[in-house]
Amino acid sequence: MTSDKETSKKGKVYSKRIQCLRRLIVATVAASCLIPTCICIILAIKYDRLKGDLDQSRADLSWYRERYGTEMEIFAQEAEAQADASVEDAAGEAGSVEEPVNMDVDYANVDVSGAQNPEDIEGTRYVYLTFDDGPSSSTAEILDILAEYDVKATFFVCGKPDARYTDLYKRIVDEGHTLGMHSYSHKYNVIYDSTVSFKADLDKLRVFLYETTGVWAKYYRFPGGSSNNVSTVDMKELVDCLNDSDITFFDWNVSAGDDRAGSNKTTIYNNIVENIPRFKHCVVLMHDAADKKATVEALPEIIEAIQAMDDTVIYPITDDTLPVQHIK
Ligand SMILES: [Zn+2]
Repeated sequence: MTSDKETSKKGKVYSKRIQCLRRLIVATVAASCLIPTCICIILAIKYDRLKGDLDQSRADLSWYRERYGTEMEIFAQEAEAQADASVEDAAGEAGSVEEPVNMDVDYANVDVSGAQNPEDIEGTRYVYLTFDDGPSSSTAEILDILAEYDVKATFFVCGKPDARYTDLYKRIVDEGHTLGMHSYSHKYNVIYDSTVSFKADLDKLRVFLYETTGVWAKYYRFPGGSSNNVSTVDMKELVDCLNDSDITFFDWNVSAGDDRAGSNKTTIYNNIVENIPRFKHCVVLMHDAADKKATVEALPEIIEAIQAMDDTVIYPITDDTLPVQHIK
């Protein structure tokens, strides 16, 4: 009897162990099915989200392509514009054959319709501070200085779709300055190649500025000025092109010379402050560029000197401004 009981006990224990083992096997099988299934579900959800993001990105890209050409252009244009500006500056410094600005222009003889010889003319002297080539890493500082002295200026800007410049275009407008155009690409070999390419570049910049700021720009400064000697197109044809679009172009009769070799805070200050008394209407050329920090450094003292001149005011360019033009 004792032996039968022991055998029965052993049998129960064995049977329990078998049951445990079965449960363990079932649990293992269930886990080995469930875990991969869960991973698959998670991956499927992630895939769906990424696909959604990709579709959105594709839609954004085609939007940009429609407006600004290929996606490569979008990122390359800003860099190229800066590089071209540097080439322009370097050419000015080196006096090379690529020098786009005709430095022989006798600004004293520029026709500004009786704007010269202020001693002979009663009334106020108008000074228009203009900045070419922006926006740049200097723009915010220039705007801060102008705000500090409560001065409005004119910015002849290029087309730079990079997001870091968007707020600078808007600041120029929001803070009461005049937004002028200075070509989208700033590439001489493009804009001065034909009237067609000039017009395409002009329209591209005008639309870009409108979409960015809501301003339909109507003032233009030719890269290198209207007296440049690099254009393969007769500049008068390009002036006609601007006239057809109701755009007025402005050259300058006072230059900071901040694109010349050896220019510094002192030379920039002197070039401007010593020449302003020669004219009744002064359109002052300066540059808004990353490598023109001396211009920014000189700006506060330039403004102070102009504000200290008798019967002299600093204005932004408006429809009432008498254009200074090197060619007619
Ligand atoms: Zn320029």
